[in-house]
Amino acid sequence: MKKMNVESFNLDHTKVAAPFVRLAGTKVGNSGDVILKYDIRFKQPNKEHMEMPGLHSLEHLMAENIRNHTDQVVDLSPMGCQTGFYLSVINHDNFEEILEILEKTLQDVLQATEVPACNEVQCGWAASHSLEGAKEIASDMLAKKDEWRQIYKEEA
Ligand SMILES: [Zn+2]
Repeated sequence: MKKMNVESFNLDHTKVAAPFVRLAGTKVGNSGDVILKYDIRFKQPNKEHMEMPGLHSLEHLMAENIRNHTDQVVDLSPMGCQTGFYLSVINHDNFEEILEILEKTLQDVLQATEVPACNEVQCGWAASHSLEGAKEIASDMLAKKDEWRQIYKEEA
């Protein structure tokens, strides 16, 4: 296959075993700061996906809560294929700590009583939310926490 500009376009999505957390790229700035981008894959590509209202609420909840656990978050955004999120952090290369932060953030989702900023002033599609949907996704992800380090299927 032709080498693509986008890192994940060079990933064979048929070989991965979701859920997983994968370092998808790093960029070093002129001052030596490093941006690290993680692929947080919740659902098996082309087999499952997150429904939009739950995914959207999960995005709001994670984006808001993850920043209570570290001040090194640059961005947390959902993938258009609805199978995962990208998390970008600055100068945070401790993979195990990233997993701990993710776990704490997903626990926050389970505790949530409302979706932050789900109104027409603060969000672009305030009608499309589901707190219950977000909790279901978070709960499924947490139940498979032991699998997060394994990115690829076991070779037969
Ligand atoms: Zn929104």
